[in-house]
Amino acid sequence: MAEIRIENAVKTFGKVTAVDNVSLTVHDQEFVVLLGPSGCGKTTLLRAVAGLGLVDSGRVMIGNRDVTYLPPKDRGISMVFQSYAIFPHMKVFDNIAFGLKMQRMPKPQMIARVQQAAELLHIENFLDRYPSQMSGGQRQRVAVARAIAVQAEVLLMDEPLSNLDALLRLEMRAELKRLLAELKVTTIYVTHDQIEALSMGDRIAVMRDGKILQCDSPSTVYDTPTDRFVGGFIGTPPMNFLQGQVRRENGAARVFIGDFGLIPVPEMLDTLLTRDGEVVVVGIRAENMEALNQPAEDALQVRVLVVEPLGSQNLLTIQIGSDIIKVSTHPDFRVAPDKDIWIRFPSDKIRWIDRDSGKTLLPAVQIAASG
Ligand code: ATP
Repeated sequence: MAEIRIENAVKTFGKVTAVDNVSLTVHDQEFVVLLGPSGCGKTTLLRAVAGLGLVDSGRVMIGNRDVTYLPPKDRGISMVFQSYAIFPHMKVFDNIAFGLKMQRMPKPQMIARVQQAAELLHIENFLDRYPSQMSGGQRQRVAVARAIAVQAEVLLMDEPLSNLDALLRLEMRAELKRLLAELKVTTIYVTHDQIEALSMGDRIAVMRDGKILQCDSPSTVYDTPTDRFVGGFIGTPPMNFLQGQVRRENGAARVFIGDFGLIPVPEMLDTLLTRDGEVVVVGIRAENMEALNQPAEDALQVRVLVVEPLGSQNLLTIQIGSDIIKVSTHPDFRVAPDKDIWIRFPSDKIRWIDRDSGKTLLPAVQIAASG
């Protein structure tokens, strides 16, 4: 059993709190991605799990062992860190075989392991080279192969695909995901690439300013972010946010977007948005709005600013009041810049967000239930 449990971890560098009271449990054999913008504390948190940097307070457990103060070699982990480079004086084969030699693995088995890891990373033809004879991307793949070959129960990876070109990266992320599932490794994987996180993770922990804002499955963080930052960080394009204003007439609450239009407030939210004139942020994804060529009930008339035909979709840039948003339509939808269209907001796709705290007003469970 190789569950990783981080409990109330704090790490400061002078005045900077890089990891701010973080707790996270990664279940046995689970693949959790730490995702967030540069400087949010991902690497610092991963280093604390690896033993490359100790926490100021809090605890790190692997299985039922408290590893908080153990050196990396005693934690039962393998890792790929930018700072943890491959050995320049060893050929690629010996680099990949390094951990296996330490384990005194019999030679035939060791060769097979090295071969398997090298093939996965497409470096089987470089086994006889020195790292200095390889490109940055190829060296990075050696580091990944070395970590995988060991088949430790816990694998920690910090941006392991960052030096690869786009096509290879696409291929590798699927292959890596398949292999790790096969090997049943518990993995923490750091990236700032949200597509990589969505495609690879069993769960994604979205970090900001040293804190985990949300840790859920890719579909949950995408569909029902608990925080405005999460919705705005995940997705291409990111979630749209509009200023809405609550108006109460005859006891019923409706939300106005700009000067026009109205969206009925769902019953469950009615008790939260009690004041007339209250401002609420309406979050909605580009693909969740319905675009129409003619007026219709509950549809807002909007001006199209830009049309981007992207093959599988048309991405429209649209002005609503003072807000600019993105709407995705079927490629056959007829539209031109500077023309008006009408859009509808399906109420089950709207995420209602508190303007001040940035938090979603309904918990994800309730959103799912009302959708
Ligand atoms: P990136 O994606 O750019 O690697 P990150 O999310 O991994 O960023 P960290 O490297 O963990 O972020 O850094 C978190 C914060 O801690 C940053 O403000 C960084 O400047 C600071 N920091 C990290 N390591 C040190 C250090 N050794 N000394 C001082 N400050 C540090």
